[in-house]
Amino acid sequence: MGQKSIVLVTVDCLRADHAGFMGYQRPTTPFLDSLASESFVVPAAIVAGAPTYYSFPAILASRYPLSLGRDVIGLGPDEPTLASVLKQAGYVTAAFSAANPYISSQFGYEQGFDAFRDFLEGERAPLAEEKVYVATGDGWASRLNRKLRRIRPALGPLGMVYDELYFEYCQRVTPVAESLEALRRFPAADVIVDHACAWLSSVGDAPIFLWLHLMDPHSPYYPKEAARALMGNGPITPHRARYLNSYWNRSELGERRLASHRDEIIGLYDAGIRWVDVQMARLVETLRGSRRWDDCIFALTADHGEEFLEHGGRYHPPSRLTEELIHVPLLLRVPGSKKNEVANSAFSILHLAPTLLEAAELPTPPAFQGRSLCEHLRKGGSFDGIAISECVTGCTNPFRAESRMGPRVLSVRESRFKLVLHFDPPAEDLYDLEADSGEQAALPPAAQKPVRRRLLEIAREHLRRSSEQRDGETRVRARLRELQLEWKKPANEASPLAS
Ligand SMILES: [Zn+2]
Repeated sequence: MGQKSIVLVTVDCLRADHAGFMGYQRPTTPFLDSLASESFVVPAAIVAGAPTYYSFPAILASRYPLSLGRDVIGLGPDEPTLASVLKQAGYVTAAFSAANPYISSQFGYEQGFDAFRDFLEGERAPLAEEKVYVATGDGWASRLNRKLRRIRPALGPLGMVYDELYFEYCQRVTPVAESLEALRRFPAADVIVDHACAWLSSVGDAPIFLWLHLMDPHSPYYPKEAARALMGNGPITPHRARYLNSYWNRSELGERRLASHRDEIIGLYDAGIRWVDVQMARLVETLRGSRRWDDCIFALTADHGEEFLEHGGRYHPPSRLTEELIHVPLLLRVPGSKKNEVANSAFSILHLAPTLLEAAELPTPPAFQGRSLCEHLRKGGSFDGIAISECVTGCTNPFRAESRMGPRVLSVRESRFKLVLHFDPPAEDLYDLEADSGEQAALPPAAQKPVRRRLLEIAREHLRRSSEQRDGETRVRARLRELQLEWKKPANEASPLAS
């Protein structure tokens, strides 16, 4: 048997409880469910940060996202990554990423890849807000609307009625594209898998490391019609799909009003997951056809989840570290390993890269902060799992350096308890996930004092190590790289919510 290849698939915004193999009732992942029968399914995989830019340093470089300093986003220049380690070990490496600007070469993610394609060229405007909520015409109605818009603050309670009329008016008069395809902001999974398959046919017999990042469940939610049909949904007009996305994006609406369209929005999101599943079947078929599958380690996970009002929010802004944002699916197929039930211990995604390396019988570089959990997976049974997650509140546009310097939010999660620390204003919430899986009520301050003390101690140690072990040189080089690139403006401004 030759050296094992590794395929890593990350799906943006895929929350754990929307995957069939994690217990979801709707048919989002029938193919991956079948793959789960020969894979480890990790029930409590937790990302090291959210959203994308606070998650990926741990996925690819096994490093906590803020450990180079809050002002550094992305990977440090020459920082060892899964890709660079595998390339050095003789692997042929490639990445195809569906136009997420936060994991582009600007932030160091091309390092270690022989082929790197991030699909950010061209006219697409990824991560931009829905821009249909403005009357732009020259007719009298549009002109009147624009005038009313200007005096809107003086309208008092009548303003809400005006907002509603204005929104509906804009939806009616703004031309809409003819298809969902034309509305979609990102290359769909079939495009990414096409490129991956073409690349696979071009490489020889060397072991490969292939990373795919898919954006199908990311907002705005414009899934493939075929995926909706597979989910048992009828066709949807582009007008309705755009209406739903625009409505969901309205910042002035309260939770009750937004909830009226929640199920339809989730229907669109779920169809995005189904399209990923369809394309994973195609990718695995290609790997089988090229006789790589028998020796292929396959991992599928997500960079973070998505909120659907569980705590009042939408999308995945960095302000909370609730389960819907940090709990992700992790399916890991290791050829030659007997499938075991994996314990409900917290499995930090920080440990994924070392685990993949051990599965491929390769050593973990000393710079990685995680450790391999391969043995725990193979043996089964519970392990001492601690998952720390962190982000910076208010950093909704990391292209702006000043947006990155807000206060940190940090969570420490075990299988049962989870402590969430906000630093400004200070707050310390302890949850019992067994009794309250939805994190609806923090325990009273006097409850579970030994647990609270233990988790606080872990948080303190994490913060201490984070500042003591900071690699000053890499930090400075990362800042220099950014300043050298600063003249290159980002292709778009990020949405405050859909970051
Ligand atoms: Zn993301």
